[in-house]
Amino acid sequence: MAHSLLILPGDGIGPEVMAEVRKVIAWFNRNGMSFEVSEDLIGGAAYDVHGTPLTDETMASAQAVDAVLLGAVGGPAYDSLDFSVKPERGLLRIRKEMDLYANLRPAQCFEALADFSSLKREVVSGLDIMIIRELTSGVYFGEPRGIFPDNEGGRVGINTQRYTTDEIRRVARSAFELARRRSNRVCSMEKANVMESGVLWREEVQTVHDEEYPDVELSHMYADAGAMQLVRWPRQFDVIVTDNLFGDILSDAAAMLTGSLGMLPSASLGAPGPNGRPKALYEPVHGSAPDIAGQGKANPIACILSFAMALRYSFDAGDQADRLERAVSDVLASGLRTADLMGPEGGTPVSTAEMGDAIVARLES
Ligand code: NAD
Repeated sequence: MAHSLLILPGDGIGPEVMAEVRKVIAWFNRNGMSFEVSEDLIGGAAYDVHGTPLTDETMASAQAVDAVLLGAVGGPAYDSLDFSVKPERGLLRIRKEMDLYANLRPAQCFEALADFSSLKREVVSGLDIMIIRELTSGVYFGEPRGIFPDNEGGRVGINTQRYTTDEIRRVARSAFELARRRSNRVCSMEKANVMESGVLWREEVQTVHDEEYPDVELSHMYADAGAMQLVRWPRQFDVIVTDNLFGDILSDAAAMLTGSLGMLPSASLGAPGPNGRPKALYEPVHGSAPDIAGQGKANPIACILSFAMALRYSFDAGDQADRLERAVSDVLASGLRTADLMGPEGGTPVSTAEMGDAIVARLES
């Protein structure tokens, strides 16, 4: 049976990088897999046509397919819009209504780009870690929140870090499940030394481990120490699981271990459905890059690697995901570089489309 995939290219470089993913999907369709692809609008592109960054119809399609693949949203043309119809609202709505609570951000260092990292080659070479950030709760959503007058004639800003047992347990399960497919190690990060929500986080992760995943190696670390270890010796980690706030920061720090924003994929997963597959949205970490949009300069690899994550986590095709990642790695090793990857050691400059074509050609060979 064909896998259903909804493509939402979005704005700026979104459609450009997605065009290259379509070439990759077409290659897999010619070589034993079957994807039924539909395409729709999100972000500014949807606002231009429908006056809203995400229509109810598109939302319903996203709920119905096996996986959603998104480019990027936003751009200067939409900066002055009312908050309620800004392109980013489309993205927030889709994440919220699909209840995508586990955000997976791999930090993987391709050998050919090891010198591109701000850390030394020997620290990042061979790096392959996965950060799982809780995405739908915590301090970004907790109530009360707001800016209020205080009693001394000033103001007070309030946000609330709040986690329930269920919210912690479900993302912990995502981490343990993932670790079993990798090197079987999870490090959970919080601030149990100073935050009660951190104490609960640590206890609940430990309970899920002891009751359901005793075979996985579990360690705990305070998030500040974790940040230090991430830049000191990142290869000690396999899967890191952490809350929304710490995950936001730690995953951005880990991202820079590997060099360019144009290389970073992500997945956001929800609860497994009746078919055992989680609700899933795959997207590059980067935004719509208006400064280079329409110039053929965008690196399509982050988006292509997001599709590789879809192969692995939505379509049970880990071997095909490996194959696609190997093709990317080989193309980089051959010296082809989009502008963002052009370091002091040089390389052969290629456009967005040429990079996509080279990856497909490598798959072919
Ligand atoms: P950005 O990620 O779009 O760009 C940051 C820098 O990285 C730019 O110089 C850009 O040219 C470069 N870059 C990004 N992706 C690249 C790629 N694939 N290849 C080569 N270079 C790349 O972030 P920004 O400039 O802060 O934001 C631009 C717009 O994107 C804003 O409207 C913002 O709200 C939106 N945004 C959207 C998302 C999303 O859709 N998930 C994420 C971040 C930002």
